[in-house]
Amino acid sequence: MANFYKDNDDLRFYIEREINWGPLVKLLEDDFTQEEGFENTEEAVEFYKEVLDLVGKFTAEEIDPYGAELDKAHPELKDGVVHSPERFDNIMKQIADLGLHGLALPRELGGMNAALVTYMAATELYSRADVALSSHVGFHAGIAMALMVYAYEEGAFETDEKGMLSSIRFREAIEEIGVGDAWGSMDITEPDAGSDMANLRTKAEQDKDGNWFVSGQKIFITSGHGKYHVVIAKTSDKNSLDALSLFLVKAFEDDKRGKRTFFANVDRLEEKLGHHISATCAITYSNSPAELIGEVGDGFKQMLLLMNNARISVGFECIGIAESALRKTKAYAEERRAFGKSIDKHEMIADYIDEMETDVRAMRALSMMAAYTEEHSYRSKIYLARHKDISTEKKKEIEKEMKTYRRNSRRLTPLLKYFAAEKSVEIAQRAIQIHGGAGFTTEYGVEKLLRDAMVMPIYEGTSQIQALMAMKDTLGQIFKRPQAFVKELAQAQFRALSTRDPREKAMAKIHLYSLQAQQNLIQKTAIDKFKNVRHLPVTSWLENLTGQSWDPKKDFAPAMLHAEHLVRILVDEAICEIFYDQGLRHSDRMEWFDKYVERAEPRCRYQLDLIQTTGERILSQLHQVNEAAAE
Ligand SMILES: Cc1cc2nc3c(=O)[nH]c(=O)nc-3n(C[C@H](O)[C@H](O)[C@H](O)COP(=O)(O)OP(=O)(O)OC[C@H]3O[C@@H](n4cnc5c(N)ncnc54)[C@H](O)[C@@H]3O)c2cc1C
Repeated sequence: MANFYKDNDDLRFYIEREINWGPLVKLLEDDFTQEEGFENTEEAVEFYKEVLDLVGKFTAEEIDPYGAELDKAHPELKDGVVHSPERFDNIMKQIADLGLHGLALPRELGGMNAALVTYMAATELYSRADVALSSHVGFHAGIAMALMVYAYEEGAFETDEKGMLSSIRFREAIEEIGVGDAWGSMDITEPDAGSDMANLRTKAEQDKDGNWFVSGQKIFITSGHGKYHVVIAKTSDKNSLDALSLFLVKAFEDDKRGKRTFFANVDRLEEKLGHHISATCAITYSNSPAELIGEVGDGFKQMLLLMNNARISVGFECIGIAESALRKTKAYAEERRAFGKSIDKHEMIADYIDEMETDVRAMRALSMMAAYTEEHSYRSKIYLARHKDISTEKKKEIEKEMKTYRRNSRRLTPLLKYFAAEKSVEIAQRAIQIHGGAGFTTEYGVEKLLRDAMVMPIYEGTSQIQALMAMKDTLGQIFKRPQAFVKELAQAQFRALSTRDPREKAMAKIHLYSLQAQQNLIQKTAIDKFKNVRHLPVTSWLENLTGQSWDPKKDFAPAMLHAEHLVRILVDEAICEIFYDQGLRHSDRMEWFDKYVERAEPRCRYQLDLIQTTGERILSQLHQVNEAAAE
């Protein structure tokens, strides 16, 4: 019997050998004090494996064979109601019957209390079978989990004498979603604003009794035909991110007799290149009743919580696509013969396949690390909220760990979203190329993989936005601690020259390229401002730099131009670190470090070269255009 979990050694490596489950399971199980909970980590991990085994079988047997059929059968909008094809509804019913939507929800809310990392691994399995269906599945647990975390953050919950949840805000929505009777969506994009969230127009207003109402239009909303919408809207006229607040809006409600009243309208379903089975909706809100989440003006920050998880989830969607493309390609290349041998024996094709295989493993390494750090950080927060009576010492220890995990997750999430999305497209495209003419037809299903992959670098924040975020965070650290940066650069230069071990040397070189790229961008960024501080001791740079007036559009232009080149180096650096660390603990894994670093080192050198030698022509053209427009 086909099983997408059992047949995947690399995925099983993480679940069965690599992930440090102990600390995470302890947080999840409240130090193993939960009623009906697991007694120890081993028991919990056995359960996670069983669940993934089940999802592996289910996705391989009940979804994968119907991928082409699901691709052809689009949802339809009739009289404001979206109807999905029967096959899709049946699969969703089976997922609900297996209780999988509630996999990572707490037991008190009807869930199985499994680690979200397990849920993410399941996302890879769904996505290998059909990524469009997988994205709909994600809008069940993703929204339920986010509502739960919002409630915890607000302190809007109570526990009983045994420490179990007795009440929590949004309970009705979480439970309904958890059993599969409803799903949610994340409503950000509008006709005139996608990446540029400060330009959003949807408004939320309060009546004299303090009730909120949302009005406006949202577009491109995945699974936007559901009941629960997390909507970002303006609560002031300012054109800035702090004018935004977050709301939960019910699109409809059924009375006891089953009569449905609508509070939002699905106007249109988009016709798309791929993701056909997923409903992408345009929605109008007209004075729709809404519940404020968090504080007024905190919408952007609150939305990021949901988006960070969604971005990690997209990472796993991308692995599913890439894993499928790789397997189809290997099978085809072994069979297909040209010039007297199978095409996988031709040098160029062998090299392509080797790179695809290494990159799929790299995507998984980065995704698993991002998922673990993100989950550890917010599970710690929930633990602290639920256990107010723990000792000061234990509280401090958890807070310290939480800070480290949060910092790592913040670093890794945009890198993962960028890398996985770009790679899923590249790998799917290579799969078509290796299939030759057959790849361009629908016979082998690889053209579907490319069509479905093409949205990965667009939704949940485009690749360019991820690159800008990573660049901003990385260079921001240098502004905060210039002295530490100078020291790190000197040490890296020394290590790259003096280290003898070839693996350590390759790592040291990549780290050096990364720092040199950052240094170059910092120097180009606000070159005039650096001229003013260059003669001063490094320790006084921060004070003197921040004391000068900044024009972000002009001063940061070189860094914005090269953000993608920088992020490619940062990605390679992070992946090499993860593989190297794995190799030190599991010698059989060093093979993947060796394979990855062989290409990463020259790639980073090339990106550094681009940063150091290109860009001025475009910047001066843009400068002239901007000057002319200003006159
Ligand atoms: C199938 C699908 C599903 C989607 N699901 C959802 C959903 O569930 N919820 C939701 O809210 N939205 C959803 N979206 C919308 C998606 O998130 C947006 O399309 C995306 O954020 C980009 O916004 P935009 O389309 O307005 O493009 P724009 O923001 O107009 O960007 C156009 C191009 O310009 C680039 N760009 C913009 N600003 C900069 C900059 N400062 N520097 C460099 N480049 C820049 C972008 O990277 C992009 O390449 C979905 C879209 C699709 C296609």
